[in-house]
Amino acid sequence: MSQLHERLSELQEKLRLGQITRRDFLRYATLLGVSVGAAEALAACAPKPGPTAVPPTKVPPTKVPPTAVAPSEPAPTAPPPVAEKQALPGHTLLVDPTKCTGCLNCAVACSEKWLAEYFPNEAKHLMSLEFSRIRPMRFQLVDVVNVCYDCRLYQWAEGSSKAPCEQVCPQAALTVVPVGEGKPGFTGNGYLNVDRDLCTGLDLCGRCLEICEDQFGSGISFDPIEKKAQICSRCGGLPACVEACPEPLALQFYPLMTNGRMFAQTPADLAESLYNKIYDKFGRV
Ligand code: SF4
Ligand code: SF4
Ligand code: SF4
Repeated sequence: MSQLHERLSELQEKLRLGQITRRDFLRYATLLGVSVGAAEALAACAPKPGPTAVPPTKVPPTKVPPTAVAPSEPAPTAPPPVAEKQALPGHTLLVDPTKCTGCLNCAVACSEKWLAEYFPNEAKHLMSLEFSRIRPMRFQLVDVVNVCYDCRLYQWAEGSSKAPCEQVCPQAALTVVPVGEGKPGFTGNGYLNVDRDLCTGLDLCGRCLEICEDQFGSGISFDPIEKKAQICSRCGGLPACVEACPEPLALQFYPLMTNGRMFAQTPADLAESLYNKIYDKFGRV
């Protein structure tokens, strides 16, 4: 039995015993190189624990006073909101950190897609999250899944309405691919993309990375084979990451805004929603 199979069997056993959640199982399995679909199938195959016998307890009957309340109709429940799976005109894809659980299914889907697109031979035996355009990054003490914010300069203040990375690229390798151009499902629809034939790469340049890091922690990364720049192209409007994300609203299309200020909230409001998310999750409030 290969090491991978042994490791997957261990994870299945832990899932069966309730020592890890299904989401943890999917994350660990995909980090081991298993595709999201295969990981979901393996999670479904994990044997369920049998019913446990509960010793009978003697509970004294409690007297319930009769009530004269008529049975009420159950309140109709609204269907949970779901994110759009495709780009809306004038909108861009962003991560909502208050909804994202950090499972990294998005990063696995993104890296698989772009690795197969640019390095089909390597894709047969290689899997690395370094090909992903959506990645976990450390901000202060918190790891947050991050993607390019599709920001733009202020024409009136900075003399350009391009993206900062597009503005500083000496090769004009970073450009917006207009609607009707590009490769469907990969680039186009007014989203940025890197022309890999023009990009001179991290060792000779890296200016796009520098300017973006000044602001956001970086929407730019570099593939580990040719070290060419990578940016989220919003898959030309058909994002693989949104398809793969199990959280209905963690990845959403937001109206295109300047400098990525997507949360029209005060810092205090944003901090409070993050606090509630973290402490609700761990049952401390
Ligand atoms: S890569 Fe960075 S600088 Fe370029 S558009 Fe995205 S967020 Fe802005
Ligand atoms: S690394 Fe490539 S895309 Fe980035 S600024 Fe340099 S040439 Fe342009
Ligand atoms: S939209 Fe496409 S390129 Fe951007 S992070 Fe998602 S899968 Fe990657």
